[in-house]
Amino acid sequence: MPRVAYVNGRFIPLSRAAVSVEDRGYQFADGVYEVIALKQGRFADEDGHLDRLGRSLGELSIAWPMPRPALCLVMRELVRRNRVRNGGLYMQVTRGVAPRDFKFPPPRVRPSLVMTVRPANLDPVERLANGVRVISLPDIRWSRRDIKSVALLPQVLGKQKAHEAGAFEGWMIDDDGLVTEGCSSNAWIITRDGVLVTRHATTAILNGITRQALLRIAGTLGLPFEERAFSLAEAYEAREAFLSSASTFCQPIVEIDGRPVGNGHPGLLAQRLRQSYVDGVMAGSPVI
Ligand code: PMP
Repeated sequence: MPRVAYVNGRFIPLSRAAVSVEDRGYQFADGVYEVIALKQGRFADEDGHLDRLGRSLGELSIAWPMPRPALCLVMRELVRRNRVRNGGLYMQVTRGVAPRDFKFPPPRVRPSLVMTVRPANLDPVERLANGVRVISLPDIRWSRRDIKSVALLPQVLGKQKAHEAGAFEGWMIDDDGLVTEGCSSNAWIITRDGVLVTRHATTAILNGITRQALLRIAGTLGLPFEERAFSLAEAYEAREAFLSSASTFCQPIVEIDGRPVGNGHPGLLAQRLRQSYVDGVMAGSPVI
């Protein structure tokens, strides 16, 4: 089944999908993106991701590429054409195509919209059963990490370093020795006292849509939680650790910098949160 992409108003075979070399996303990383998981034909947290897309666009003064309801229709049509039931939808909006010049182009230049869908295993049984390893890295990013910008070079380098170290994710550490987040996920621990901790949402981190959903679930389940920064030392001592993102939902961590977390096995609370999150997604209506 050949894959189909959406590029600026057209559905095109992925192998032929392209944007101009003068697209500002390509030349300046002047754009934003979202990833939305598709679980058994259902979008996970579609509204939350589109709300955040609107926020990222607003922070950069980029216009919506089309009205939001139309965007939702395009998303559904792309999923239908690709016949993907489990995987993820990638959406990127840039400031558009214009002769290379740092300042914004004139308003007649329309934003570029690109979307792709790809299948993925959202229930990696072995990875969930075994947990994953993370390593710590210095956070070398800019100071507006709340914007989901396509400028991801620090994360590319961090993920590669993690991969070379046999780890699944890199946890980035700020100048005060506190964990900001993972290269492509939010970072969580559960303290020895059983308190769920994840960094508060400021410009220092991306406010993950999965993060927000998990906090709501914690509230509903009556689990004690704190939104605050935690140090690497505190993470080493944690009872449990896990990461959250649209593509992993809630993934238990069993090792940080080569030190076992808790008893070295995936944490029970992390597994419970994951299950509640998945139940919530499955309560939605399928789009395919
Ligand atoms: N932080 C960063 C830096 C990320 O790239 C991501 C994933 N896009 C997240 C957190 C998790 O966000 P979400 O749950 O919305 O996927």
